[in-house]
Amino acid sequence: MPNTTHMTIPSNRVRDIERHFHTTLSKLYPDTEIEAFIYILFEAFLGWDKVQLLLHREGTINQSDLLRFYWAAEDLKQYRPIQYIVGYTTFCNLRIKVSEGVLIPRPETEEIVEHIKQCPSCQPESILDLCTGSGCIALALASHYRDAYVYGIDISAEALTLARRNALTNNLNVSFYQCDILHHAPTLPHDTFDLIVSNPPYVCESEKSDMLPNVLNHEPALALFVPDNDPLLFYRAIGQYAQCHLSSDGLLVLEINEHYGNATCQMLQQMGFDTTLNKDFRDKERSITAHKTLKS
Ligand code: GLN
Repeated sequence: MPNTTHMTIPSNRVRDIERHFHTTLSKLYPDTEIEAFIYILFEAFLGWDKVQLLLHREGTINQSDLLRFYWAAEDLKQYRPIQYIVGYTTFCNLRIKVSEGVLIPRPETEEIVEHIKQCPSCQPESILDLCTGSGCIALALASHYRDAYVYGIDISAEALTLARRNALTNNLNVSFYQCDILHHAPTLPHDTFDLIVSNPPYVCESEKSDMLPNVLNHEPALALFVPDNDPLLFYRAIGQYAQCHLSSDGLLVLEINEHYGNATCQMLQQMGFDTTLNKDFRDKERSITAHKTLKS
């Protein structure tokens, strides 16, 4: 453990801790983001909301709490995501535990789930989330479709442990199974699903140069990357699985790489799906909804 006598937090007074975050991080993050970090950390470490923080500004905290703030500032200097530092994030009003073994759920993904929930014709009785990670999509759907059977699969045992804990802490009933969908079809108690969703790895290796260090250096490569020579790798496997296991009037919903919207749609059409390409709130082509083509 590094020598803490070099700690630069001048005192355990709350306002000095806040100042420490601003001076340490001002060259790395915008002021508004540093403010947000401070609120998140006081809430996570001490359970204080913004008002309590304001009221305690002249007060002090104990030495072990002070150390936690110190290490959080050091982590932020290394661009460690705040969600990993506090160990959780919020997704569709659920508290989701996250660690370096899973992707941090994105607002784009949240938007896709909200879109599904608002679709009046989508009333699934069975749901499967492929590449579930923290379980966020499966859990958000389970909390909305209370009577549905919901399954999540992932290749990573670490992700599944976290996903199961997230089901427990949110009191939701989702069954998680380990499976590598690139090589095996999962063996599940249900054979067909009314809704199959997935946010699989889709970032090409060559896109690494455009990525920020918080993602590139801290989030799991296993959940992010696909080879440049086969960007649709996961969508091909998911499409093949859905050909056999999506119910005839079921819905397939995929988060996608914004650069491969048309290519992914074309491939799915050749597999026998009708596809719609949807934009996200940043106006990027971010998801595909697909149905099995009706045979005449
Ligand atoms: N959208 C994520 C990102 O921007 C990637 C998610 C994924 O590969 N499934 O990093």
